[in-house]
This record gives sequence, structure tokens and C-alpha cells, in this order.
Amino acid sequence: MKRIAILGSTGSIGTQTLNVARRHKELFSIELLVAGSNADLLVEQALEFTPNAVVIADKSKYAQVQQALDPHDIKVFAGIESAADLMSMSTIDIVVAAIVGFAGLRPTLAAVRQGKTIALANKETLVCAGNLIAREALAHHAAVIPVDSEHSAIFQCLVGEEPSQVDKLILTASGGPFLGRKAADLASVTPADALRHPNWNMGAKVTIDSATLMNKGFEVIEAHHLFGMPPDKIDVLVHPQSIVHSMVQFRDGSVKAQIGVPTMETPIQYALTYPDREESYLPRLDFLQHPTLTFLPPDTDTFPCLKLAYQALRKGGNIPCAMNAANEVAVRRFLEGSLPFAAIPDFIASRIESTAFVSEPSLDDIMQTDSLCRQL
Ligand code: NDP
Repeated sequence: MKRIAILGSTGSIGTQTLNVARRHKELFSIELLVAGSNADLLVEQALEFTPNAVVIADKSKYAQVQQALDPHDIKVFAGIESAADLMSMSTIDIVVAAIVGFAGLRPTLAAVRQGKTIALANKETLVCAGNLIAREALAHHAAVIPVDSEHSAIFQCLVGEEPSQVDKLILTASGGPFLGRKAADLASVTPADALRHPNWNMGAKVTIDSATLMNKGFEVIEAHHLFGMPPDKIDVLVHPQSIVHSMVQFRDGSVKAQIGVPTMETPIQYALTYPDREESYLPRLDFLQHPTLTFLPPDTDTFPCLKLAYQALRKGGNIPCAMNAANEVAVRRFLEGSLPFAAIPDFIASRIESTAFVSEPSLDDIMQTDSLCRQL
């Protein structure tokens, strides 16, 4: 029985993790649930899964959660700092890091420092602090297992392989809702258009990141930190069907791909059961339903965020962190209606340009870069 903490239990990845846990009660128990502000759903989850404790990050919702769970012997805490403190619970084996954005960094880092196994969905943690997380994971013997479908695919392709035999990683991208459009077509797109992802049902922020291709840029940075590959050995290929989740090319020219139906529950379950595989109730891939799988290069003239992310990775230091902060602000403003979709890349580029470069940022430098960039 593995005992699980979910950071971001009320989100898309969090609820899908609970689906996996619900189907495999013999394998998993839920120890801790952490939510942002969705108190109603957190209470509902807590009543079903009876964790040891829950955290509601939004302190104004504490009384509501506390009142609802008081009769059930479930401890209630408030504030994201409590989530970081609770990573020391000896009863937690695996931490599913599924808070969206920079807010996920502190509790994920705390879990790494406690030597927990991390099932990592929160890619922004690696974008902002990849070197720091890698150092701390090594020092505290914390395993970081990817949940992101592309990285799970690469991770699965690498099982049993020597890292030195790898030629390059090939990340696939669906292309998002605006695949095939040109810059002029993007001038009038609305948040509702951008939130209509063709293949994946995800949280709002990552869906907008998919539409701008910033999500793929983040994934290139994530792959760099997870698999130790330099940027010029990480390619991106648009694959609109989202059946091939990603690939690894080896030095003899062989290519391994991991393929399957597009559902996040498969990589979530793999991260939770690794190195084992368990039975899954999910539908199997029917090849005859997918007779044509297509591939094309990403259009980085129309979607320059992917280019920005490669540049940020090459520059290194605190620049990816600045890019992430600017992107979070840009996405929020786009969703609020105060920044056009087509203005997002320039908005981010100008904030990166104004950032003072720090080559080997400490946690304090990362926090400061994030905060300065948001103020800007
Ligand atoms: P959602 O927006 O659906 O969920 C985000 C979760 O984070 C919610 O539980 C939310 O709580 C919580 N949260 C938000 N802000 C805070 C905060 N300040 N403190 C504590 N908790 C907070 O996002 P997703 O599940 O889609 O994505 C989560 C992460 O996983 C992202 O980094 C994303 O890039 C990554 N990912 C997602 C995939 C997907 O298919 N969804 C695929 C691959 C990666 P509440 O709702 O209660 O406010």
C-alpha cells in the first residue's frame, strides 16, 4: 500500500489521481490533500478518501473546511506554507505535485528535501528551479517521476537503456486549438476559443499555454532537467492526433515511442506504480481507429513562445524563472480580457529583457526574480 499526498487535489491532475486511487484501493491510500480555494470539492474528497489531513491554501476558507471535517477526525490546516511543513509526515510515501504554476515550487521542494518520491506534474517547478531541484533530489535521495504525458513517454522509453546511447529526445505536441493558423488569424481569438483544446481536458492555465506553444517550451526545459539532455538534443514535432506521446532516438538510429489513448490517467498511474505496471480500466488503443498518424514541424513564427523557451533554456540562470512569471501574468491577463492573445509572446519577451541575470540562482534569487517580474 502506497500512501499518497496530492498537492492540488481539486485540479484536473488532482482529480484524475483520485480516479486512479479510487480504482485501486488495494494499492493506494490518501494521506494528505492540498487545495487552493475550492473548499467544497476538498471537503467532498476528504469525506470520500478520509486522509489524515487536508490543507486549504486560501485561509479565508479555513473555517468552512474545519467545520465540515471536524466530526470526521481529519486534521485541517490553512496556507500553502502548511502544505510545505506537512511534507515531513512520515506516513507519506509519494507526493503528487499538481499545483498549477510557481505556487507549486515551495511544497514540492519541501517534499524533495524530505526525500519523498515525487510524481511531478507541476512543470513550472522545473522551469523555475530545475538545477536546484536536481541538486536537492540527489542530496536527499528523492526520486522524481514525471507525470506529464510526454515525459512519462520518454521515461518509459528509457527503461533499460544506457543514457549514453541516447541520440535525442523527440517531444510531440498536439499543436493546440490554433494549429495551422497564421499570425493574422490570431488577432481576434478569445479565451473561449483558446480554452477549446482538441485532445486534452486540462486546467485553464496549461490549456492556454498549449495554445501559445509555451507549454511545449516548458516541456523542453522540463525534459532537459529530467533527462540531462542539452537543448539541441531535444526536438519538438507536432502530432495532431496525440497518440504518440513522445519518442527517444538512439545512436544506432532506432526510435522508441510510447503510444496510447490520450488520457492523463495512464501516466499518473505509471508514476504511482513505477517500476511496476498495474491493470488499468482505461480503454485500449484501437489502431484501426487511427490509421493515419501525422507529424509536422512546429510553426515558431506564428507561435514564438516555443522559441522564447529554447532561448531562455540556453541562457539559463534565472531567465526561465522570469519567463515563467511573465507567462503566468500574461495568461491571467488574457483570461481576464486585458491582453490580446497575439500580444502574449512580446509581453513575455519584454519582461525577460528587463530581468537582471543571475547565473546560478539560489532559492532566494528565484523567489526574488519571480516577484520582481510579476511587479513589472
Ligand atoms: P488546474 O488548474 O486544473 O488545478 C490546479 C490545482 O492547483 C488546483 O487544485 C488548485 O486549487 C491548486 N492551486 C492553484 N493555486 C494554488 C495555490 N496558490 N496554492 C495551493 N494550491 C493551488 O491545473 P492542472 O491540474 O491542469 O495542472 C496542474 C499542473 O500539472 C500544472 O503545472 C500543469 O502544467 C501540469 N500538467 C497538467 C496536465 C493536465 O492534463 N491537466 C498535463 C500535464 C501537466 P483550487 O482549484 O482549489 O483553487
